[in-house]
Amino acid sequence: MTPPPILRRLDDLRASTRAWHRAEDTICVVPTMGALHDGHLSLVQAAKAACDRVIVTIFVNPRQFNNPEDLANYPRTEEEDARKLARFGIDALYVPEPDQIYPDGFATTVSVAGLTDVMDGIHRPGHFDGVATVCTKLFTQTTATDAFFGEKDFQQLQVVRRLARDLDLQIEIHGCPTIRDIDGLALSSRNLLLSDRARALAPRLYEEMEAIAEGLAAGRPFGELQRAAIDRLEKTGFTRVEYLDLRAADDLHLLDAPTRPARLFAAAWLAGVRLIDNIAV
Ligand code: AMP
Repeated sequence: MTPPPILRRLDDLRASTRAWHRAEDTICVVPTMGALHDGHLSLVQAAKAACDRVIVTIFVNPRQFNNPEDLANYPRTEEEDARKLARFGIDALYVPEPDQIYPDGFATTVSVAGLTDVMDGIHRPGHFDGVATVCTKLFTQTTATDAFFGEKDFQQLQVVRRLARDLDLQIEIHGCPTIRDIDGLALSSRNLLLSDRARALAPRLYEEMEAIAEGLAAGRPFGELQRAAIDRLEKTGFTRVEYLDLRAADDLHLLDAPTRPARLFAAAWLAGVRLIDNIAV
């Protein structure tokens, strides 16, 4: 198949979406920051199955980076991304120029309370305001009827669901399962930044989470399982475990036992790279 048309300006995007709405087509959007891997492509596939038209967006959103070094190092592989998308037959690849998202004098922030008071909301100050603002922009710019997000970023998924509900956006938010490498490591664009040695150690995070899930299923207390897992991770070479929490899947409240639908959430640093993961328990 041919690579998708790349649109860089809102006017060009609108020319397409207007025609699609006239034809009463449904429009799916898959927001990404590029450096596409099979996790992203699973969202594209789900979108293709659900909607008449599919727009993939690539925008490395400066407002969701709390660390300038992280923003500077973030992998950018647009040509390869477009090649990877060719086989899906999507209708547009929207790669907005920065002023199409943040025009001169841009002064609006979308901020979701509550869900952002924990985990990445604390460890990455301002991150979710950046995410919520750019998602709101991308939803209104694309006029999508459906949007696809990965459970890999579960807190983000819940924040986006909340903002769509609160702002009466006419868009359905779909969550898709986390795609992992064969050794269990959740696929992430940031994995490209790991050295060979660190890449070999990285799956330990998921292994420890699985071990906790098994311990919980066997009725062992969470606090004990959590302490032992953090201890082992730090001995393995993880320099800091920011959190390894058991939380309710809907409101992200802390739990000490999976008494309602729950997930384990982790963020940890390995060789200068911050890894996050979560699993249902
Ligand atoms: P990003 O480019 O990291 O902003 O991610 C774009 C979208 O892809 C987000 O909805 C992520 O949750 C999703 N995503 C990233 N990694 C994975 C993965 N391993 N499996 C499924 N979805 C993913």
